[in-house]
Amino acid sequence: MNPDLERLIRLQRAETDLRRVEAELAEVPRHRAELEAALGSERARLEAARQELSGGQKARRQHEAELQDLEAKRSRLKGQLMEVKTNKEYTAMLHEIEAVERDIRAREDLILAEMERGESLAVEVKREEETFKQAEERHRAAVRAIEERARGLEEQVRRLTGERDAVASTVPGGVLDLFHRVARSRGGVAVAQVQDAMCLVCHVKLRLQLYADLKRNEEIVQCPACNRILYYEAPPPTVVAEP
Ligand SMILES: [Zn+2]
Repeated sequence: MNPDLERLIRLQRAETDLRRVEAELAEVPRHRAELEAALGSERARLEAARQELSGGQKARRQHEAELQDLEAKRSRLKGQLMEVKTNKEYTAMLHEIEAVERDIRAREDLILAEMERGESLAVEVKREEETFKQAEERHRAAVRAIEERARGLEEQVRRLTGERDAVASTVPGGVLDLFHRVARSRGGVAVAQVQDAMCLVCHVKLRLQLYADLKRNEEIVQCPACNRILYYEAPPPTVVAEP
């Protein structure tokens, strides 16, 4: 094989691997953001449960304060009952006391309802706290895994960059320029394999004479359709499975 062609094949492999690894590395921030968002929605659920509980407690304190006022009002009215002069006044005051007592019972019912609701909300908060704790643990483990993966990918980028640069330094300038020119216009892929008289990247059929020449891998030849530098590699031998 033409030694430059052989170097270009290796250069392309290093470039392709490098691009793949760089693309994976570029995904890391998005993965991290997804993890943060998932934990954030768990946190929001916990906060909502806590707010509902504290809202209920606030409502209960409000009812209790109102109950105290009503009880004070009832005592005051009962005190005044002794001082009324006429039957008519007396009856009116009794009615007023009854109305206050109805209000008191209603407040007591509300307080009881809030107490019951508060108990189940407290259970709910505990459950959400437990769920959040587990989510946090999973989150920490996932972040560690992602960071470890990112370090591995960064290491691969360094290694592949070194490999690529080492191969590139052995390619003559003109050939290297051709490689870069084609790579720039062809999505980073400047070298294409040929099999069965076909460019395996753009799938154009090659003239048989060109194919016959290519099979010797002696020249730097470009695909007539996509301009990529072509090389021939025999298909791997077909293994016939034992019945
Ligand atoms: Zn092609």
